[in-house]
Order: sequence, then structure tokens, then C-alpha cells
Amino acid sequence: MHYQWTAHFIAGEWEQEEGEQQIPVENPATGEVIATVAAGDEKHVDRAVAAAREAFTRWSAWTVEGRALLLDRVADLLEERREEIAQTVTAELGAPIKLARGLHAALPVSDVRETARTLRAMEFETEVANSRVLLSPVGVVGAITPWNYPVHQVVSKIVPAIAAGCTVVLKPSELAPLSALLLARIMQEAGLPDGVLNVVNGDGSAVGQAIVGHPGIDAVSFTGSESTGRAVAQQASRTLKRVTLELGGKSANIILPDADLATAVKVGVANCFLNSGQSCNALTRMLVPHEMLSEAEEIAAATASRYLPGDPADERTRIGPLVSAQQRENVITAIERGLLDGAKLIAGGPRRPAGEDLPDGYYVQPTVFTQVDPDSALAQEEIFGPVLSIIGYADEDDAVAIANNSRFGLGGAVWSTDVARACAVARRIHTGQVDINGGAFNPAAPFGGVKNSGYGRELGRAGIEEFLYQQSVQL
Ligand code: NDP
Repeated sequence: MHYQWTAHFIAGEWEQEEGEQQIPVENPATGEVIATVAAGDEKHVDRAVAAAREAFTRWSAWTVEGRALLLDRVADLLEERREEIAQTVTAELGAPIKLARGLHAALPVSDVRETARTLRAMEFETEVANSRVLLSPVGVVGAITPWNYPVHQVVSKIVPAIAAGCTVVLKPSELAPLSALLLARIMQEAGLPDGVLNVVNGDGSAVGQAIVGHPGIDAVSFTGSESTGRAVAQQASRTLKRVTLELGGKSANIILPDADLATAVKVGVANCFLNSGQSCNALTRMLVPHEMLSEAEEIAAATASRYLPGDPADERTRIGPLVSAQQRENVITAIERGLLDGAKLIAGGPRRPAGEDLPDGYYVQPTVFTQVDPDSALAQEEIFGPVLSIIGYADEDDAVAIANNSRFGLGGAVWSTDVARACAVARRIHTGQVDINGGAFNPAAPFGGVKNSGYGRELGRAGIEEFLYQQSVQL
């Protein structure tokens, strides 16, 4: 496949200088370099910020309906180009093609449609006593995104920002930048005015830091690791920028004694292994009543054995490689540490998966541990690979205590045939999202975390408000 959009996108121009340093983009299934993208630096960020500042005056003056109509066109084009997006995500991330079509390329269409719908329903002017309260765009937004959902993560930042009337400087992850650049091209084709969206490729230490420190950027929205999130917040404080952080998680999946155990365990395993376990809200801790533990282990091991790592381009593949050699090393180290800490391995392990046809890429075995100590690294650290920890609990209070025994608070789940009981337990978990009995991801609902999972929200009305400020005008 030839990737045409590999340059920086600044002020509506695709720019690449002669001899500019390049970043290789690998196919993680094979390790083969499939494209290179231009590597930017502070100079590119300066130009992108200047373009965004200039475009802001005009873009923020567009009517709400004008902006919503443009987003409708973006959603239509994303839908038309779904196959091209899916193929690109499969190539740069290693996501199985069926998942790439059904999730990576499909979800952004819903994200954009929901944002347009929400925008139309919002009131930008309200009255309180003798004041008129106006909602105004904060200005230029810096967006820094990771590789794990390379289109959705970008869309859930830049689309609400643009909807709010802001302009954007985006730095996609250097590991998976191709689909983000394709998205920028699609937004250009949809008629987005020059300078409203600018994309600078490059690594975090050059381009990421230049965005966070830039005095011409008013707000930063970051998704990625806890440690980088902390560095971003610290650096942003020097210019007093507004910051949104969507960081990692170690989400608990509480299976109550009255739940349909087989369904709860199977769906729980599938959730944990989705996207090769590279989801910030993955349900990586499965909490099961002690008396149901052995049955749950049996179901989990049998379910895991059906996740055979394979070539992501193959329609039958359910689980592909990890994104990079580094990510594979991190996951193998975490599995080895789990073994040393005394957890019981019931599926997978640290060795490379078997399979003669398996390409030479960054594969690990989908792995399940049980009898995991809730205080151990396995239960506390974000692994970002297909590694599930099963933990036994005594009663509901114990389950809630284990769920909350985490410095993270992003996702969560509760299973019970009594929905009211499940919802009551959900309220006691200190976390941003809870799915009851497999409740589906909702792109109209606010998404974000508490504790070390970050602050601020993406998607829904809250996702747009993240990029607005309130002005009170007294009459
Ligand atoms: P990072 O947090 O390092 O990277 C996320 C984004 O931030 C990338 O675009 C990166 O650039 C950029 N970045 C890196 N350093 C800085 C900086 N100092 N200032 C501004 N931007 C910066 O995540 P990794 O990709 O290294 O993944 C490591 C771990 O992070 C994973 O194993 C996982 O645990 C977690 N993670 C969590 C995610 C989530 O959704 N919450 C998503 C991805 C990872 P670049 O990489 O291009 O240099």
C-alpha cells in the first residue's frame, strides 16, 4: 500500500523539506518499514501555532450550524473511506482487519456524528438574573495522542475542539501516525478551512514538548502514559494552560455471585484481550467470589485458548501483535514478574506464541493469571498487553475494596442479574466509567478518569465544554 499523506499539515499545506529527517513506521506484524513520515521540531510547531492563531479569529466566528454541517461532511467522508482507514490501522498498529473495520474505522464516524448532534443541542448563551453567560472557545488547542486507537483518540480531541470553535495543533504518536494524517486529509477534503487543523509529526521530546510549552497554545489535551501525563501537566503549568489528561487504568470487572458466570467471564476475557490488550480502559482485573473461582478459571482458560495470535491482515484473526518491540518487551517483563510474585498461570506465558504461519512480528501469548495478590505489580501496574489477572473476593464490600485498591480510576464493570444491585455497586467504585452486564461503549457519554487516570472529559457535551470558557456579561 502506498501512503500518500506523510508530511506535516500546516496552514492547509502538506509540507516537507528536502532532506528532512524521517521517522520510519513499522508494520508490527512483520517489523517491516511500511512508510516514513517527516520528523518535525519546534520550528514546525511555531508555524503550526501561527497558522492556528490566524485561523482562530475566522473559525470561531462561524455559526454553530455551519460548524455542525462541516462535521456532518467529515462523518460522511469517514464512512466512505472506512476501508482505507481500516487497512491503514491494520498496517501501522497490527489490529486484526475485522477489528480495524468494526471498531477503529467505525467508531470515529459515530464520534463525529455524536459531536455534531451534541453541538446543535447546546446552548451557548444563558441568562442568570442580570447576567448573560456566554460560552466561548478557549483558543488554540494542542492535542497529543497515543497509538492504541490512532483515529478515535485523535477524533475525540480534535473534533470537540473544532466543534467548540477552537483551532488545533496535533501531534499524533510516531508509532502510528498514518491514519491520523489520512484523517487530516479527509477533513481537508470535507472543507475544513486552512489552519483550523494543523498536524506536526515527530517525537514527544521534540514536538510534544514544544506544543506543551508554547505560549501561543491555550489548552492541551493529552492521552498516554501516567508518567508522560505528569510531565505534560508540570510543563503546562509554566504557561498556565488548561490541561486535559486521559491516562492509564487498571480497571476492575466485578462479577457478583448472582451473575451469569459463563457470559461474564467470556465477555471479560474478550474485553481484556481487545486490541491486544492495548486499551486504557481494559478490564484487566477480574474479581470473582472465592467459591466460584475454580469454575471461572476454567472458563477463562478455555476462552483464552481460542485467542490464537495471527496475521492481522487475515480475516479470521482475533488477536494481532503488540504495536512495537518495546511494548512486547514490557509485556513479557510484566508476565515474568507475575510468575516471580507467585501468581498462578492458567493460560499463555512469557514465551513467543507457537504457529508456523505466524509472521515474525511483536507477538505475545494471551495470558491469564489467577490467585493474583491484589497488591502485587500484576494487579497494580498498567501492562498494556493481553494479560488478565483473576482475583478472588469474600463479599461485596471486599470486592469494592479490591476494585478501589488502585491508584487508577478509568474503567470498570459489574455483572449481576439484579441490575439495581449492580448499579449500587458501580456507584461505590471510584472510577470514570462502569459497564453493567457488558454495557456498550457510548460515544455520546463523557469519557475520562479520576485519581492517576487523569482529569477532564472527552466526548459528549463535557468533551466540547473542555474547550469552552464561560464569560458572564452583566446587564
Ligand atoms: P507516552 O505517554 O510516552 O506517549 C503518548 C504520546 O505523548 C505520544 O504521542 C508521545 O510521542 C507523546 N509524548 C511523549 N513524551 C512527551 C512529552 N514529554 N511531552 C509531550 N508529549 C510527549 O506513551 P507510550 O507510547 O510510550 O506508551 C507507554 C505506555 O503508556 C504504554 O505501555 C501504556 O501503559 C501507556 N499508554 C496509555 C495509553 C492510554 O490510552 N491511556 C495510550 C498509550 C500508552 P511519541 O511516542 O510519538 O514520541
